[in-house]
Amino acid sequence: MQVPAVFNIQKYSIHDGDGIRTTIFFKGCPLHCAWCHNPESQNPNPELLWMEEKCTGCGECVNACRQTAVSRTELGKILFDRGKCTACGECTEWCLANARETAGKIYTVEELVEEAEKDSMFYEQSGGGVTLSGGEVMTAKPFSYVTELAQRLCERGTSVYIDTSGCVEWARFAAVLPYTDTFLYDIKAMNPQKHRQYIGADNQLILENLRRLSDAGARIYLRLPLVHGINDSEEDIDAIIQFLKTGIHTAQINLLPYHNTGKSKYDRLGRVYDPQGLFQVPAKEQLEMIAGRFRQNGFANVKIGG
Ligand code: SF4
Ligand code: SF4
Repeated sequence: MQVPAVFNIQKYSIHDGDGIRTTIFFKGCPLHCAWCHNPESQNPNPELLWMEEKCTGCGECVNACRQTAVSRTELGKILFDRGKCTACGECTEWCLANARETAGKIYTVEELVEEAEKDSMFYEQSGGGVTLSGGEVMTAKPFSYVTELAQRLCERGTSVYIDTSGCVEWARFAAVLPYTDTFLYDIKAMNPQKHRQYIGADNQLILENLRRLSDAGARIYLRLPLVHGINDSEEDIDAIIQFLKTGIHTAQINLLPYHNTGKSKYDRLGRVYDPQGLFQVPAKEQLEMIAGRFRQNGFANVKIGG
């Protein structure tokens, strides 16, 4: 049976909800945020990352690869043909320079529960727990895997947060709602045209699901990834505020300033990042201004950061 691939299990995380948390990142996402800092999360299938700058040219991967995805030129240069790579991971076992790495590992639900429960003492002491993230965990296939994982953790008394873009059918939210303490819910842009341009999808379903979650009494931390010049203008922020004022209940609003720490991952995946140099980090003053705007409109619990 197909199960979702996990590309990272982040221990001692303090940016993915309250307290000390273990964040489990699943591969696969219905969106394509132009500034995504986890590009290895977008494809649901395992992928190979090649850190060419670490490569010593030893050629072990050429011998290891049964798909002939790696070759060496007469001048000794290593070439990698992604089209042939099945991400089997064989070459990573032979690369002593750690220049090759697979993103995407398969776990059973039981294995993830066991891994997460190793840190239950920290969760208890800090008010933390487990955050299911991605990519988009809500699109994982089969979804019964995610529901079972959330249910098992919940039954053990572990707090479960779900970090989501909201771009999935409502039935999935209904399925995990009983086992989820808090949803970390993103709004990237209210303007539908801007949303399609930078996020690669319409935002109607996202906004509808947010309203339904709110109406269902879910605890919601709204997260706003802010990219200067793209979605941090007064107009952008006021549109979000006006939407929230139509009866959306949020326990917290997190302003998440853009950063470009994921840039090197694009190189490792053979992809190009921000070719037009559009994305900029919002200034501290801009973030303070945005936080102030929310507070003036009655949203007291606004934080800069996760
Ligand atoms: S095994 Fe690693 S270091 Fe050697 S050629 Fe392949 S990528 Fe480079
Ligand atoms: S991951 Fe597998 S298929 Fe891809 S280059 Fe390495 S050995 Fe070849």
